[in-house]
Amino acid sequence: MKEASKKHRGQHDYTHNFWLGCHKVSEGCKHCYMFVTQTSRRKAGWKRVPDPNVVTLVKGAFKTPLPVQRKAQRARREDRRYKSVFACSYSDFFLPEADAWRDDAWALIRRTPNLIWQISTKRPELIRDRLPADWGNGYPNVWLGTSVELKKHLSRLDTLRKIPCVLRWADFAPTLEDLMPELSEHIDGFGWVCGGGKEIACSNKERRPHDLQWTRNIRDLCAKKGIPFYSTAFCGDGSLLDGVAHNEIPPLNPSRRLGTSAEGKSQ
Ligand code: SF4
Repeated sequence: MKEASKKHRGQHDYTHNFWLGCHKVSEGCKHCYMFVTQTSRRKAGWKRVPDPNVVTLVKGAFKTPLPVQRKAQRARREDRRYKSVFACSYSDFFLPEADAWRDDAWALIRRTPNLIWQISTKRPELIRDRLPADWGNGYPNVWLGTSVELKKHLSRLDTLRKIPCVLRWADFAPTLEDLMPELSEHIDGFGWVCGGGKEIACSNKERRPHDLQWTRNIRDLCAKKGIPFYSTAFCGDGSLLDGVAHNEIPPLNPSRRLGTSAEGKSQ
């Protein structure tokens, strides 16, 4: 478990990988930073860097968050704030290859109530069969998210909306086209939106076009619908969009049900 890099602080406090490795599933994966980073590390001779195409369990994955939980519990008494963890930044939490390990991951998440786990996937159709038996309307410390890069993948938002959870979020990084006006028909039931990410893990030559207006449209839609909007570190000028930092995040408070039950009904 690691503290979030400076670029991502604000979006989450920590990152944690239960397992590493993935398979490219759609256009947004083309320049996946996990593939780029792990491949270059292997080429540079780094030891113990697994093949990014193979899903591999991380040693100590179910233990290293426990000291952070204790620290968060102590800090909570002082600043009344929970800590957030972005899970599986170098993989996908719902990959079938990780089925044998996921129960242990859920158990660990249950044991860390002072950590708010942000879990995002490009495969929301795999979630339902991989929730723990006691999930109910969602663990109070888990936010489920999905990322969408093209209009043809907006149905991921609809798939996720059918899953009960305390907070649903959407990540539009990278965006590869303007998602409006269709996005407005798919975003209800979501409690947080991150956006603005252009492709980062590639050279300027390889980078696909990214028009800031696409992100402005997402920002304006969120303002209209009252959804907190976070512009990522790779938005316009750094994380500034038209000179403004958008760093809204829902309160990190598991007892407050900000999200929605299945089908987007308010709780
Ligand atoms: S789903 Fe995520 S981790 Fe997996 S290849 Fe695509 S971008 Fe990379």
